[in-house]
Amino acid sequence: MGLTRKQLTILFLCLCFTVFLQLTSVSSSTSPQGQKETASSSFEHEKEVHCSRERSRAAWKIIDEYLMPFVEKERYKISSRCRLHPENDLYRDQEQHKMHVDINEWRCGYCKKTFYEEKYLDKHFDNRHYDLLNVSHSKCLADVCGVLHCDLVLDSAPHKTKCNPAATGRNKHLCESLADSCFPVNEGTSALRLNEFFLRQFCDAHTCSGGRKPFSKGGKKETSTLYVIISVLVLMLLALFYIFMYLYLRGIKRGSQGLKHISKSGQKKRS
Ligand SMILES: [Zn+2]
Repeated sequence: MGLTRKQLTILFLCLCFTVFLQLTSVSSSTSPQGQKETASSSFEHEKEVHCSRERSRAAWKIIDEYLMPFVEKERYKISSRCRLHPENDLYRDQEQHKMHVDINEWRCGYCKKTFYEEKYLDKHFDNRHYDLLNVSHSKCLADVCGVLHCDLVLDSAPHKTKCNPAATGRNKHLCESLADSCFPVNEGTSALRLNEFFLRQFCDAHTCSGGRKPFSKGGKKETSTLYVIISVLVLMLLALFYIFMYLYLRGIKRGSQGLKHISKSGQKKRS
């Protein structure tokens, strides 16, 4: 009986540990750094297309997370004149044909070939589906990476580089012109609101005086915080359950010992 209780306890501990591992893996995969790839290998085939796929992807990620939810909320339609329009992203079509089937399985949506890592699929796109690149517009989304603070998402460059006033000024100027071309203030109240929002979300942080951070309005990131809260709650519940189980089992043990004691003393009395 004692052995089974021990086994039960060990089993329960194992269960707790697995649940904890699962939760941590889920929350890490939803974090913005979760989809970080190893160094880009697509540079070899950029002899003709001078546009970084990795940086374009980072720019798209930022647009998708920190701008589009607000644009959709306003039900505003971005025109193709705006550089942030999906049509102006050279790699958009290829990226949409990327299927992340499993942790180590990436599938090409054009020919269904599978790869272990995203970088190999990128290489495959460069080699095999080069003709499908949307080169007619010759617009590179990576060009607006400076404006959109891609380095924060890419996490490749050290953040503590000294602020360059000239570059910062250029970025701020480009940022403001981007806000005007994507959300012309004379196009109604939604455009006006989004223009203001764009300035706060992306342009205000282009300053050397510091203090301001981009993406102040957040985005999909909030879901990962939610995940953390949920996992902490689940862990607390598990801990409570475990304590309860421990006390309960101890109670049974004491009860059985008490019974033994009584039966033993009863036997003694009889003899
Ligand atoms: Zn393919």
